[in-house]
Amino acid sequence: RLLVVGSINADLVVRVPAHPRPGETVLGGDLAVHPGGKGANQAVAAARLGADVALAGRVGDDDHGRMLLATLRREGVRTEAMRTFPGSSGVALITVDDAGENTITVAPGANARFAPTDVTDLAPAIEAAAVVSLQLEIPLDTVRAVIERCEAAHTRVVLNPSPAVSRDVLTSGTLLRACDPLVLNEHEATTIAGDGDAREALKLLRALDPSPRSIVLTLGSAGALIAEADAEPVHIAAPPVTAVDTTGAGDAFTGALAWRLAAGDALPAATRYAVRAGAAAVRRAGAQSSYPTPDELP
Ligand code: ADP
Repeated sequence: RLLVVGSINADLVVRVPAHPRPGETVLGGDLAVHPGGKGANQAVAAARLGADVALAGRVGDDDHGRMLLATLRREGVRTEAMRTFPGSSGVALITVDDAGENTITVAPGANARFAPTDVTDLAPAIEAAAVVSLQLEIPLDTVRAVIERCEAAHTRVVLNPSPAVSRDVLTSGTLLRACDPLVLNEHEATTIAGDGDAREALKLLRALDPSPRSIVLTLGSAGALIAEADAEPVHIAAPPVTAVDTTGAGDAFTGALAWRLAAGDALPAATRYAVRAGAAAVRRAGAQSSYPTPDELP
C-alpha cells in the first residue's frame, strides 16, 4: 500500500485578460473550482492507475473541505487518515491571463495545522505502508516527524521538495537521508544546487550531506534522470506527446512512481512507468482532471 502524507486544496481559477497590478481591479471570467494540492494530486494520480492508496491530510469544516473529501472517495483514495479541523480548507487563488501565464496565492488553511504531534496518530498507517510519499506543502517539522517514523518502521520514503527550498533547509535535520528517491524537477534542483545543467545538479545533489539514497530528476519532455548509489545516472526518455497543459505533471509522475515502488518495482522500472503517467497528464487540461487510467498511458 501507498500512503501519501500532504496537502489538499481547493483551486479557485479565474481567467483574466491581464493580471491586475497592485491596487488595480480586473474583471475576469467565471470561477472554476478544482480539487488540488500536491498531496491530493499524487494520491489521485496513483488511484486512477489502480493503486491501493491512502491520503493523510487536513481539511477545514467548510464547503471546500466537504467537496475535497467527496472527490477523494469518488476517486478511490482511502480517507481514514484524513482529519477535519474547524476553520478553512486550503485554497489556491489562481489567475490565468490570455498568454497562459498564471499567478498563484495559496492560503494553506487546515494544511498549516497538520502538526508534528499528529504523527503519533499516523504510526499504524506508516507501518502498514510499503512507501510513504511526501511534499513540502504541510509544515516542515511534520514532514520531518513523518520521515523519522518511516525510518523507525523501515518504510520507504519518497520526497518531492516542492515548493522549492534552499539547500540549507533541505540538509537541515533528518529530511534527506531516508529519501529513496528524492524526486525533483529542474527548478527545484537549481534552487538547491545552483545553476548548471541537469547532470551537474545531480552530481551536487548526490554530494549533499546528508545525501538521499537515490535521486530522480524530472526533465519535462526529456523524461527523467535516475541516480542510484554509486552507479552512473540513467536517462529515461518520456514518450512524445502533444503538450496541452503541464499543470500537475510532476505530481502525476511522483504519484505513479511511488505507487510502482510500493507495488515492488525497482527504481528504473517505476520511473519508466512514471514518465508515461507524466506524459499522459500533459495531454489534457488541469491537474487531477488530466490524470490517466492505465489504458490511457502512452
Ligand atoms: P513539473 O511538472 O514538476 O514541472 P516536469 O516538467 O519535469 O515537472 O514534468 C514531470 C514529468 O512529466 C516528466 O518527467 C515527464 O514524464 C512528463 N512531462 C512533462 N512535460 C512533458 C512533455 N512536454 N512531453 C512529455 N512528457 C512530459
